[in-house]
Amino acid sequence: MAEDSRTALARASKPMSKELFSTLITANHILHYHNVVDAYGHISVRNTQDTSTFFISKSLAPALVSSRDDIEEYRVSDASPVNPDAGRGYAERFIHSEIYKKYKGVQAVVHAHNEAVIPFSISSVPLRPVYHMGGAMGSLCPIYDISQHYKASDNLHSLLVNNEHLGAGLAAGFNPSTMISKTTNLLRNFVTSQATQMPDFPPNPTVLMRGHGFTCIGASIEEAVWRAIYTCANARIQTTALLMQGSYNVGLVGERFGGGEKETGPAKHEDIKYLSDRECKDAWTANQGHAYRPWKLWCAEVEASGLYHNELGSPPGA
Ligand SMILES: [Zn+2]
Repeated sequence: MAEDSRTALARASKPMSKELFSTLITANHILHYHNVVDAYGHISVRNTQDTSTFFISKSLAPALVSSRDDIEEYRVSDASPVNPDAGRGYAERFIHSEIYKKYKGVQAVVHAHNEAVIPFSISSVPLRPVYHMGGAMGSLCPIYDISQHYKASDNLHSLLVNNEHLGAGLAAGFNPSTMISKTTNLLRNFVTSQATQMPDFPPNPTVLMRGHGFTCIGASIEEAVWRAIYTCANARIQTTALLMQGSYNVGLVGERFGGGEKETGPAKHEDIKYLSDRECKDAWTANQGHAYRPWKLWCAEVEASGLYHNELGSPPGA
């Protein structure tokens, strides 16, 4: 029997759990409720029974996803729909397919255009954890500059990740060391004929996208949602702190000159304090034990709203 036929038969003999789709639908709603996404942005989940495919909604605003029929299955290999009669899908589903292709341990992906995060993708100010909940982002968020990845075949430089090579460039950003040591690895591969080992789950779980937004990953839908929500919260807090500190520093300069000091030597300047690498890592370790507590609240919030509908009912943990 051909491999494709066996895979298809295996999938048909083991129908996907209703809970997985219910969770995915509610996750769409939670991301909208918390302003991570608006009419744009998406969340996907890897197929738990056939890891060569993943599920994501059709081309819909996340708040309006409500039923199994709103969800499509795509191949990890090339983001093509499993159902040949599939309707219109998200143009940027290559974000998801290329991440699943590169990192076997990633089970869910969120992509969003959140306004609090975008300034950090276009300025020289790095997005870094400023409070314990921000530790989930990783100690530093790499920036994917799509202009470095366009090919001559890309007629539109629209910033949209709408093909395999643009998605592959973004996926590589989650493991920046592979890009830095590319030449070394090529040499090693030539000598040993062994492919470079990719981590199942990359070290940087959040990547900013220049002039566009961000993408983050998770070992589950709940974890990806958690990371996305607190990435946006960290960005808001960091921006507030930077503005406060900037204003305060201007005041310090005024004090200095107002006090009759000579205009020589370094100006008084104070920085905001970020989490250390260890604090970032340990804060995430500690928070992972509580990640399902907010999930219950978030499910209750969207169920209480009149906007969202989940025809499959409450997900597990709600
Ligand atoms: Zn986008």
